[in-house]
Amino acid sequence: MDQEHVAVVGAGQAAASLAMRLRQSGYSGRLTVFGEEPHPPYQRPPLSKAYLKREWTLDRLYLRPTTFWSDLGVEIVTGVPVTAISPGARTLIAGGRTVPWTKLAFATGTRPRPLPAGFSGIGGVHELRGLADADRLREEIRPGRRLLVLGGGYVGLETAAVAVKAGLGVVVVERAGRILDRVACAETASIIRDLHAGHGVRILEGRCVAGVVAENGAIAAVELEDGERIPVDLAIVGIGVLARDELVRAAGIACDNGILVDVFGRTSAPDVWAAGDCACFPLDGVPTRLESVQNAVDQAECVADAMLGRPRPYAPVPWFWSDQYDVKLQIVGLNRGYDAVVRRRSDRGSSLWYFRKGWMIAVDAVNDARTYMAAKRMLEAGAEISFAEVSAADFDPVARLRRTAPSA
Ligand code: NAP
Repeated sequence: MDQEHVAVVGAGQAAASLAMRLRQSGYSGRLTVFGEEPHPPYQRPPLSKAYLKREWTLDRLYLRPTTFWSDLGVEIVTGVPVTAISPGARTLIAGGRTVPWTKLAFATGTRPRPLPAGFSGIGGVHELRGLADADRLREEIRPGRRLLVLGGGYVGLETAAVAVKAGLGVVVVERAGRILDRVACAETASIIRDLHAGHGVRILEGRCVAGVVAENGAIAAVELEDGERIPVDLAIVGIGVLARDELVRAAGIACDNGILVDVFGRTSAPDVWAAGDCACFPLDGVPTRLESVQNAVDQAECVADAMLGRPRPYAPVPWFWSDQYDVKLQIVGLNRGYDAVVRRRSDRGSSLWYFRKGWMIAVDAVNDARTYMAAKRMLEAGAEISFAEVSAADFDPVARLRRTAPSA
């Protein structure tokens, strides 16, 4: 093939970031983004927040207007799934057509874990991953209805907040010992639990659904393992996601909890890259798959640079956020392996500081953007913040940041 052709499988945030970076960095060859959904790249975070509340319209969700992509010389092929790739022949199959490429990137994201037994094949059961899911769920959010939320992660809790404010009765069932177990400490979970309880959401932790009762083909109740029966009109299942790596696996490229890549985003096949939720990369030497906007954007930019022969290792300080009611939870750093947490209160809100072996590794800030920004900049600067410092009564994160980076 004479002409260069970068093909991107997936058309979400990572794909958009990759395409923009390639063009901004001077790539002038052919560039095609293949998306299964009938939309140009759009933002997912508002699907469980502003879009679900009907505060945002579809236009606002789109990352860029459609003309932006054509002006940039990026062909966005929507509604066409890629069904196979051949790293040897350097081709992919999309909509039955064989398309040659010179470089290939995967930005396929994730899909929801399969529905638990009893929830599939009946009406009134929702997942929330794409726009079509959000549109279906929006129609079902009506005052007076009874919503079961299965899973106390971000999808479940953000949806619960929107639904209870819209006048639904909401019960959250989380099988782990507490909500947000995978992502946050017990102290943060307590703040969020109290917040929901204050708005009338019932949160059941360490409880499992043992059976689903359907009437006229739709969910009518669930029965918990301890015998409690909860009548419901609809359910949202937010029990986590799995990397969409099946095409890559089928092509013999290494995968393990996602598409395995190195710090430059390279897979085990030449000229095949991956970025975003679907990619598992080494962070501090540990295989890591992050599910966040920050990761999608930043890792994709690294991949674009590597594709253009300017590789730089991807070594992020990850950040996340969640909006529930009038609370903004902001998280910076990865808290894996923490052995201590310090809670600090300010006149604005609270922050939870995570430590491993005496050193700060992550912070959750609850309605405390000032502390979040200071912690983020300190982590990015590689500052060593000790448990003793943060525990001191007069600890001030912004003053500490100024000592770390005097220009701050
Ligand atoms: P999640 O954060 O992994 O939370 C899912 C929760 O459901 C976990 O606590 C999980 O517990 C629990 N669970 C699993 N199986 C269950 C069952 N059968 N019954 C009851 N609980 C069960 O995933 P998510 O909330 O579904 O979110 C999906 C993705 O969207 C994630 O990538 C998330 O980061 C992203 N998202 C992010 C935001 C945000 O950052 N603000 C907002 C929305 C969505 P176990 O750990 O025991 O499996």
